[in-house]
Amino acid sequence: MSMPDAMPLPGVGEELKQAKEIEDAEKYSFMATVTKAPKKIQFADDMQEFSKFPTKTGRRSLSRSISQSSTDSYSSAASYTDSSDDEVSPREKQQTNSKGSSNFCVKNIKQAEFGRREIEIAEQDMSALISLRKRAQGEKPLAGAKIVGCTHITAQTAVLIETLCALGAQCRWSACNIYSTQNEVAAALAEAGVAVFAWKGESEDDFWWCIDRCVNMDGWQANMILDDGGDLTHWVYKKYPNVFKKIRGIVEESVTGVHRLYQLSKAGKLCVPAMNVNDSVTKQKFDNLYCCRESILDGLKRTTDVMFGGKQVVVCGYGEVGKGCCAALKALGAIVYITEIDPICALQACMDGFRVVKLNEVIRQVDVVITCTGNKNVVTREHLDRMKNSCIVCNMGHSNTEIDVTSLRTPELTWERVRSQVDHVIWPDGKRVVLLAEGRLLNLSCSTVPTFVLSITATTQALALIELYNAPEGRYKQDVYLLPKKMDEYVASLHLPSFDAHLTELTDDQAKYLGLNKNGPFKPNYYRY
Ligand code: NAD
Repeated sequence: MSMPDAMPLPGVGEELKQAKEIEDAEKYSFMATVTKAPKKIQFADDMQEFSKFPTKTGRRSLSRSISQSSTDSYSSAASYTDSSDDEVSPREKQQTNSKGSSNFCVKNIKQAEFGRREIEIAEQDMSALISLRKRAQGEKPLAGAKIVGCTHITAQTAVLIETLCALGAQCRWSACNIYSTQNEVAAALAEAGVAVFAWKGESEDDFWWCIDRCVNMDGWQANMILDDGGDLTHWVYKKYPNVFKKIRGIVEESVTGVHRLYQLSKAGKLCVPAMNVNDSVTKQKFDNLYCCRESILDGLKRTTDVMFGGKQVVVCGYGEVGKGCCAALKALGAIVYITEIDPICALQACMDGFRVVKLNEVIRQVDVVITCTGNKNVVTREHLDRMKNSCIVCNMGHSNTEIDVTSLRTPELTWERVRSQVDHVIWPDGKRVVLLAEGRLLNLSCSTVPTFVLSITATTQALALIELYNAPEGRYKQDVYLLPKKMDEYVASLHLPSFDAHLTELTDDQAKYLGLNKNGPFKPNYYRY
């Protein structure tokens, strides 16, 4: 039965209204985005108190756990320069760049040229940011913005920082993780004039000192925050609350940082608008589904050299991450089993041609066990006892509690480190289980993340900053918002030219029929991609 002409489809009425609002709100000619009705999302009940930060002695573990949790941000954090080449702390050194500026603190400014090459390589796969630079050339939507940032400092974030500068912003930057800075990239940024305070292997004290140097500067006051993990935001709240009088917004990328912002908001203590970029559709899809589809094999191959054709693999959890892992394994000819608790995901697995089983049913026969549930104790000691010799066990989920690794630290079992991130756990009868990355996220511990994935995140961050900085007063209250759907679509559209993909345009008649604005958004907020 066909629909009568122009009859709105179920649920489209609301979208029509939204489309009108968007039309009214269109602002930047270079992107024509921005909605007036940004979507707020719910508080989780079990979030931690923002103020419950560990004491100084506990700080090291915090920065590690943040970096692990802010794996939500998935930076490829490898550095090609060894930090052990020079024992003098960067804080003790007098360094200037070629223009005579010493407004930075990096490991070694002389590495700038090498870092520049790394940035140029990253730019090749971050064409969305490059095209954003070109489109906004005349307009400079961030003119006057003074952005203080705290993220991983890698070639990919350097492309973001330099894009923000090209759009008119001034930037001061520190690292959100004490280990993840690529020293040569930090040097290249400093050489280009960015006030960057970061090096690989910072101490706890260095970590906060670097953040402080970014915020506390005579004659320069930030009016935007870009954070990954919430440490910078926390520091400003704790030490310089007055800075918030000038701040127009916070953009936060990680799950941890976003939780803290919701906590602040719930307690009525959030004093500026904040944008949660972590939950943007494009970012989530790329981080979870597509990134894992690419990096699961990379992590497994680098650590084990295993051949997957014909191997029996069980994947626990058929959510976004599980779907990505299974697609990659199936393509290589592996026989894949799934475990699931959710009948919908289980049925999807069946439709995709996988056998859905209980872990107990296959644990004796499988060659590889992969967890990606976000749950705990999915693989127990009992399962580990029953695995066959040489079974590979690894985790792709956020937490290292999916596999009960603690239960393997008992006197009767011998641990042998055979390679970096690879342990053989040996049972008294000689059976070996191959444990990867001690049960931590396999891809982030043992492989790199594709630059293209980071491009999606970085573009989302840039647009969130532009939106918050330019929003007229009153559009955003002191609350946490998701990036407007239309901007999410814009992030995707900026990446389409990389594939020479040609988008079909709605005719007026079709737009009317579907009840859509021809320029988007094309889906309601509740749509599941
Ligand atoms: P999701 O919620 O879409 O999927 C998890 C699935 O696991 C769900 O379908 C759930 O029903 C199932 N599940 C829960 N408990 C289970 C159990 N005991 N046995 C079997 N199945 C169970 O989540 P997602 O987006 O797939 O993310 C999964 C985990 O991976 C999260 O911890 C997430 O933070 C992490 N993550 C990792 C990466 C990475 O690069 N490695 C990227 C994104 C997310």
